[in-house]
This record gives sequence, structure tokens and C-alpha cells, in this order.
Amino acid sequence: MGIAPSPIQIDSNANEFISKPRKMLIDGKWVNSVSGKTFPTYNPATGEVLAQIAEGDKADIDLAVKAARRAFDSGPWPRMTASERGKLIWKLADLLERNVEEFATLETLDNGKPLTIARAADVPLAVEMFRYMAGWATKLEGTTIPLSVHYTPGANYHAYTLREPVGVVGQIIPWNFPLLMAAWKLAPALACGCTVVLKPAEQTPLTALRLGELIQEAGFPDGVVNIVPGYGETAGAALAAHDQVDKIAFTGSTEVGKLIVHAATGNLKKVSLELGGKSPNVVFKDADLDTAIAESASAIFFNHGQCCCAGSRLFVERSIFDRVVEGVAASAKKIRVGPGLEPNTSMGPLVSEEQLRRVCGYLESGFSEGAKAVAGGKKIGDKGYFVEPTVLVNTKDNMKVVQEEIFGPVVAAIPFDNPEELAPRANDSVYGLAAGVWTKDISKAHRMAAILRAGTVWINCYNIFDAALPFGGYKQSGWGREMGKDVLSLYTQTKAVCARI
Ligand code: ADP
Repeated sequence: MGIAPSPIQIDSNANEFISKPRKMLIDGKWVNSVSGKTFPTYNPATGEVLAQIAEGDKADIDLAVKAARRAFDSGPWPRMTASERGKLIWKLADLLERNVEEFATLETLDNGKPLTIARAADVPLAVEMFRYMAGWATKLEGTTIPLSVHYTPGANYHAYTLREPVGVVGQIIPWNFPLLMAAWKLAPALACGCTVVLKPAEQTPLTALRLGELIQEAGFPDGVVNIVPGYGETAGAALAAHDQVDKIAFTGSTEVGKLIVHAATGNLKKVSLELGGKSPNVVFKDADLDTAIAESASAIFFNHGQCCCAGSRLFVERSIFDRVVEGVAASAKKIRVGPGLEPNTSMGPLVSEEQLRRVCGYLESGFSEGAKAVAGGKKIGDKGYFVEPTVLVNTKDNMKVVQEEIFGPVVAAIPFDNPEELAPRANDSVYGLAAGVWTKDISKAHRMAAILRAGTVWINCYNIFDAALPFGGYKQSGWGREMGKDVLSLYTQTKAVCARI
């Protein structure tokens, strides 16, 4: 382990993109912020400034919302056929696919993740999301409903439902999968015929802004997608509170999710939330242990643990505890931590200095309460935001490192004795986003799937995402489901039409 040296070749288009200050997209034009202010985005591998970005706040959000409002109420967008909308979304997917290398490079520069991962996962999954949702545009249907009312003798009624777009949507996204989260949000909103104001995370605005250029190239009408970078407490808060926004969709921390709910009360806009997690990943003694060990390591270390669904509580049946912990610790020690652009890197830096401080703070808290690291346990070097992949043992269920979301490459390995004792402990969390179960006993696997209070349960796999598979949280992990058919209900509303005939 260690920070690899970096003989780095940067994709020339990505290099060109970061060489200029970046503006925001409002009503089909790239503009500076009303205040004229900019903010820097940093390379987490070095801590150096990558680019200056126009800093949106309340005034810019207001302009963007008004543009989205006009585009929804009177622009060409609402008059387009569903097929035309679907074709535009599909075209955006094609354009994105044509620029994989540039997008992957921008993602790596801004977020820190390995280029190999951005290229193989983030960008292709975003492409798939646009393609999958493009197909839904033409398939949003209402129903006809037989009525049984009899209070007006002799009257007959013809009743049906229409599924209409919810309207102007504000979307606030996080920094862990910047492009993919933009795709998860934009694709269904556009398929349903909404217009959007998107606020990327201040740590990682680059790929959303580049996507804005492709949205224009694809030919979306002006104002359908507006992209306003800026800070959460200013731009984000203004978007969540804006009274001409019909719906707000948020992905981020549970703490900020609660602020969003408060901010939305002014006009009672619809709210959907994809929030934090502290997901249990359960290995039974009858599992295929080699696979379970390798995949449990990846369940926590993928994306440096900066996944809301990271398998951060590793429950292992006691008789195999030592073997599994040794295996996961050995995997952790083999991970090559380094700059994301370096070809051999398998884990990059955390996204920001703040995130590094937060993860190291959790490690100190765990150690002070008696936890021990069998792999990792500290930050690496003085340049960039690198931390060692860490496996903790000797934890107690009430410790902060077991209860709270760390959002870093830190797993607590916890022994258990039997499924009956395990279930309440696995469910002992304010979160309920995801869970993993490793066993060859098919009945036990499905029993666990039923018992675990989580929006996703992976059996003998982990972190399997598909545009068709709904994703979202039980308990304080969120409201609503993204992806799949379920997400369409977040961006449409049902109108009942009843005619006397
Ligand atoms: P993290 O703590 O991991 O950075 P956050 O939940 O703070 O995650 O951030 C997720 C997104 O929410 C970002 O786009 C951020 O700018 C935004 N955000 C942060 N605070 C607020 C807020 N008070 N209102 C609206 N958006 C916010």
C-alpha cells in the first residue's frame, strides 16, 4: 500500500474543459453568477485547485427556476410527443457514450475515484440510466375505471386517469457518484416531461456542467434543464425553499435531508430523499467463503466506502469469524491506494479534506472506545486526502463507529451466534438502505431478505445496480424509490377524470 507515483496523461478534452472558468446553465445559456462570485473545485489527490466555477446562490436559483417554469408552462417541451422526448434522452445517452474517456477523467480529477472505475462503472451506468428511462417516456399510461356510484339514478360515467408530469423539479445531488447521480435524477424527470433545476455538489460540479453541454448538443429546448453549481446552504437551500418548484429530489446526508423537508413546507412541494445508510452485510458459516470474503471487502471498499449503501457492518457467524476477518483484512492490505489517474490504483483519495477529517475522527472515536484495527486505521501521507482501508474488530453495537455512517473505507466486523440473535442487531439502526446476505441455504437467504428492514437486500452479491431495479431507503434512509418503474411515481401525478355520459 502507499501512494503510487503518477506519470499521468490527462485526456485532452478533459484538460481543455478544466482550463477555463466554468459558467452555469440557465435558460439555454452559459452565464456567470449574478454576484459574479466563483468558487474553486479541488483535485483530492493533490489538494490543488482544478478549476473555478460560477457560484450560484439565491438569485441564480431564482432565475433558473423561472426559466424552468417558463419551459414547463409555455415552452416547446410540453407540446412535444413522448416519443420525441424519449429520442432526445436516448441521443443524450449516445453523446455521453461517445465521450466516456473525457467524463471518466473529469470524474476522477474532481472526485478522486480510480479512472478505471469511472470508465467501467460511473459513465456506462449513467448511459444505461438515460437509455432505460428514454424507453419509459412513451409508456406512461393512465387507466380506465368502472364506477359504481348510484346516487343519481340513470346516470352513467366514464372515468379514467391521466399521468401528468409533476412540473418544475429541483434536484440536489451529492459528490460520491457525481455524473451517475445526475443521471439518476435527470433521466426519469425528463422521461416524465418535467423541467429541472439541478444543483451538483460543490465538491464535484465538473461532470454535471459538461453534461449540460451535451444536453444542449442533443437539442433539448432552452430551460428544460438548468444547472446551477453552488454551496448547499445557499444555492441548495434556496432551491429547496423556492415556491415555484413543484418537487424536490435530494440525495445526500440524512441530516441535510431533514433540512430539505423543513424547507419544502412553504409551498408543500413534493419531496423524495435518498439518504444515509449503515448497511449490515451478513456472512453465515454455510456461505461460499472465498466469494463472501472478496465481495464483503468490496462491499465496503468500493468507491472508498463513500457509498450510502456500503456494507459497513460486517456480521459474521462466530465459528468463521476469524477466517472472514483475516480474509477481509488481507484484501484491505492489498488495495493499492493512490491518485485515481494512476493505472494501478484501486482506491483513490477521499473527496475532500473535510471528509478526511470526518473519517479520521470516527477512527479516533472507535479506538478511544476500545475498537482495534486489524487492517489500516490511519491517514496516508500529507498530500491529498488518502486514508487506509480499515477493518475494525472489538466493537460494541452501541459505539459510534457501529451506529453512525462514516462514509469512508471503514468496516466494523461483528461476530454473531445465530440468525435469531442476529436479526434485531442487524436492524438496530436508524437507517434501512441496503443489506447483504451470504449463505448457500436458499430458505435462510429468503427468510433473511424478509426480516431485514432495508430497501435493497443482496443475496450472495453486493452493490449490484441496474437502471431497472428500484433503490431507496426504509426508515431514515429516505422517502421514495429511484430507478426502475417505481421512480416514475416521483415525477408524475395522477389526474382522475370523470365524465357523465
Ligand atoms: P455530505 O455531508 O456528504 O457532503 P450533504 O448532504 O451535505 O452531503 O450534501 C449533499 C448535497 O446537498 C450537496 O449538493 C450539498 O451542496 C447539498 N446541501 C448541503 N446542505 C444543504 C442545505 N442546507 N440545503 C440544501 N442542500 C444542501
